Amino acid sequence: PLTTEDLIEDHRICVCVRTRPLNKKELTMKDLDVITIPSKDVVMVHEPKQKVDLTRYLENQTFRFDYTFDDTSTNEMVYRFTARPLVETIFERGMATCFAYGQTGSGKTHTMGGDFSGKNQDCSKGIYALAARDVFLMLKKPNYKKLDLQVYATFFEIYSGKVFDLLNRKAKLRVLEDGKQQVQVVGLQEREVKCTEDVLKLIEMGNSCRTSGQTSANAHSSRSHAVFQIILRRRGKMHGKFSLIDLAGNERGADTSSADRQTRLEGAEINKSLLALKECIRALGRNKPHTPFRASKLTQVLRDSFIGENSRTCMIATISPGMASCENTLNTLRYANRVK
Ligand code: ADP
Ligand code: MG
Repeated sequence: PLTTEDLIEDHRICVCVRTRPLNKKELTMKDLDVITIPSKDVVMVHEPKQKVDLTRYLENQTFRFDYTFDDTSTNEMVYRFTARPLVETIFERGMATCFAYGQTGSGKTHTMGGDFSGKNQDCSKGIYALAARDVFLMLKKPNYKKLDLQVYATFFEIYSGKVFDLLNRKAKLRVLEDGKQQVQVVGLQEREVKCTEDVLKLIEMGNSCRTSGQTSANAHSSRSHAVFQIILRRRGKMHGKFSLIDLAGNERGADTSSADRQTRLEGAEINKSLLALKECIRALGRNKPHTPFRASKLTQVLRDSFIGENSRTCMIATISPGMASCENTLNTLRYANRVK
């Protein structure tokens, strides 16, 4: 298993994969696990019956990432290797982003937001909350304490290329780009937070706002990107920003041939944004002067996080272990593989 000695300290882009246990639905359907994580940075997709004979499939079904997390991994563990190193970045006047990418049902929200499956929602174990916890811990360090930083949070979603404020009754917001190439979400609520508890309340509030009026939480969230941000300000000026994003289900990008016009449009929009995201992260990794951020609302809104010396990002690709999800899983792994 991974230990802190495996932590790669200084990379700009970190890409990892997380699988989860087979869930009730998959077990009822007698679906079989086709994922093996043989070491801390390799993931294999294979036929279930050949599970013992892995070597046969090494050629085209094995992927290597910065880290791979098996179905026994905890959010805390995943966090430790992905978002945790980026908390420092925002204290050093940098911009950080952390994405959860994968098909609907693979564990994006579980990883980022926490456990929303039971009656008692618990968002204290999600990466949003874990990051917030460490921000408040860091604030107490003498080096940072003397900076007198204030902490703010925003929470919004991007649905069909439109921005909605989850901390303000889903108010629809405009995105403007000024002459200095600064992108602004006009009227976005930025709430000051003083402790982790404050942040948890906002996450709960935003989350219930996100799913209100929906027949199922997943039906809607599979089609929208949720963006949670922690912003550090010093004398009113932005010091650093951490954007944590629960992306739309990547299988929705395939909805472009749906019979339903609305679904088709949404699918095209999701496709566009996920492709643009990949290009923007690649540009960041290659220090390219031109980041194609205008290609989608998602990348436009995150523009300031893709440029600059001190920008870092991580992507957590979540996969479903079942054979029934195999095609989506391979798509996810191929996409994640090309981000870097
Ligand atoms: P997504 O947001 O990608 O659509 P969810 O996070 O909602 O997926 O996860 C789907 C279901 O699987 C939820 O019931 C969730 O609690 C469960 N789940 C996801 N990841 C894990 C995990 N690592 N361990 C246990 N259960 C998980
Ligand atoms: Mg979700």
